[in-house]
Amino acid sequence: MSSVLFTNVRVLDGTGAQPYPGEVLVQGNRISRVGRGPRSLPTAGVTVIDGAGATLMPGMVEAHTHFSWNDAANLSDLQRLPLEEHVLWSASVAKRYLEAGWTSCVGAACAKPRLDVVTRNAINQGLIPGPRYLAASQEITVVGGLGDETLPHLPFPEFSFGVAVTGTEEMRRAVRMFLKYGVDSIKLNLSGDNFMPSAPAGTTWMSDEEVAVAVKETKMRGKRVAAHARSGESIKQCVRHGIEIIYHASFADEEALDLLEANRDKHFVAPGIGILVAMLDHAAPWGITRQKAVEMGYEIELAAASESLRKMHKRGIRVLPGGDYGFAFTPHCQNARDLEFFVRYLGFTPMEAIRSATLYGGQIMMRPNELGTLREGWLADLLLIDGDPLANLSILRDAKRILAVMKDGQFAKMPEIESSRAWERAA
Ligand SMILES: [Zn+2]
Repeated sequence: MSSVLFTNVRVLDGTGAQPYPGEVLVQGNRISRVGRGPRSLPTAGVTVIDGAGATLMPGMVEAHTHFSWNDAANLSDLQRLPLEEHVLWSASVAKRYLEAGWTSCVGAACAKPRLDVVTRNAINQGLIPGPRYLAASQEITVVGGLGDETLPHLPFPEFSFGVAVTGTEEMRRAVRMFLKYGVDSIKLNLSGDNFMPSAPAGTTWMSDEEVAVAVKETKMRGKRVAAHARSGESIKQCVRHGIEIIYHASFADEEALDLLEANRDKHFVAPGIGILVAMLDHAAPWGITRQKAVEMGYEIELAAASESLRKMHKRGIRVLPGGDYGFAFTPHCQNARDLEFFVRYLGFTPMEAIRSATLYGGQIMMRPNELGTLREGWLADLLLIDGDPLANLSILRDAKRILAVMKDGQFAKMPEIESSRAWERAA
């Protein structure tokens, strides 16, 4: 069993505690010892990595991931890639996430029925490198809602990244199909989205009967439900129906906030705040100028989301970074931008933003007692970072500053070996 000792590092454990100088010993796939100060742990028989003062922290968890989003600038192009290319694309994106420091990702929907499942299975079988991954279904929507990209003269479901259902029996069939394929979660599009002028963010599309059937079928098999829920009514639907993962949650009114707070141990909110910022500030090269984005409602939504999510954070509701990277204006692996946005828009401290990406991350991965923080006995998902992320969160999205990535005790990104001083193998 291989053992690795990180020495001369600043330990940032992900719990919210202040970092301290120390050493961390990894044996097999677990963190076996954490020591304070220099030279506190034995070096015999282990690979020693001198961090030279770098920060050692838990791997980050992406709470709202779309590996199969293919850098398209519109919704219909998410789906146009042929299946074979799409599989390879998803595999290549998974590898990039891991190397970028995202050692766990929660799938939030894929563009074709089994893309997430086969990617997760290939990672777990060791066929391809990638984060720990929970596979999602396609988005289940209703006719005319977000995800229904069929055209009147081309009514073929293959044009849509979502599956459009009408009524409880079609919902039941769609949910059962994805459960048969082996997903970890079912994704429902409860609200609209400003990307679709005919179904904007404040609108709510799915009937309570349809939602109830989806949740019942999913929970019967021990799986989770996640929802695209921007409107106030859709957020309340999530709480009423026990939908564990709430994406976006932009327009939470007082009633929704009270409901969420009363049930805060049951829910995670992963807003994907980055896409709202990107639509306003970074989408002009693809024809969405700031003026156009304002007309589409993004300025109003960013202001509302900032207020809603700031209140959620104050009320102790778990809000996690990540989400909707994989569009042209939200490039994959820039996901750590969200930590900066959490500070700028949602009133988080840098420490709280990191805690959300790590401690809460282990919880949303359903491994709250072994994943997400750096402590003895826990899984060895670790990042060695050049610098202090608490002083400058942007280094977490700079590949050059991510010196090493370890997942399950194995290096996904090896630290550079510059000299025998930095890398020595003790006898
Ligand atoms: Zn999404």
